[in-house]
Amino acid sequence: MARVKDYGNAELEEKLRDTYFYTTDSNPQFLEDVKKISRTAANMCYQCGTCTGSCPSAPRSSYRIRLFMRKGVLGLEQEALNDPDLWLCTTCYSCTDRCPRDLAPTDVIMAMRNLAFKYDIVPRNFLKTVQLIYTTGHGVPNNDVNRAARVKLGLPADPPTTHSYPEFMPAIQKIIDHYKMKENADRILAEEGQ
Ligand code: SF4
Ligand code: SF4
Repeated sequence: MARVKDYGNAELEEKLRDTYFYTTDSNPQFLEDVKKISRTAANMCYQCGTCTGSCPSAPRSSYRIRLFMRKGVLGLEQEALNDPDLWLCTTCYSCTDRCPRDLAPTDVIMAMRNLAFKYDIVPRNFLKTVQLIYTTGHGVPNNDVNRAARVKLGLPADPPTTHSYPEFMPAIQKIIDHYKMKENADRILAEEGQ
């Protein structure tokens, strides 16, 4: 049978009754949005840190996936979306493979990136990558140095991608247009005079 503890401290007992964390910065809807987009029960994260321990970005940067999981649970929307580390996940899915709660931290990060895009919070190099994919089909298009190296290795100068099959470019552009990614990338960069 559950036992009510009496700590003899009204303030502490009030705090213990409050099982939710609220600050003026908290937006509980943020967690709901993240869960809906990522299709993972982010609120089930118990902060074990296995994700950060598995993350190849963690030893090389200040990026901590566990911290983003926590910010999601606490509804710290602006803090999470304005943190440039949000863009340091390589989407390798190691954390998702290893999470003992069977969560998908990778998809939580992807959800947060999608939400950030709604506020135009996107690193400029990502926007330029969108432009490059739109025009070449590659985030990093082939160049003369690479072509020479490929030929030296006995490979065709261009890989069997849109570089060799440019007829597939309209289909790629159609997908990008559908999500208005190029349009928005152009707009944000133009607003900044880039
Ligand atoms: S591994 Fe899973 S449960 Fe552990 S901190 Fe990361 S997301 Fe949370
Ligand atoms: S998917 Fe992202 S957060 Fe997860 S381990 Fe890989 S780089 Fe780290």
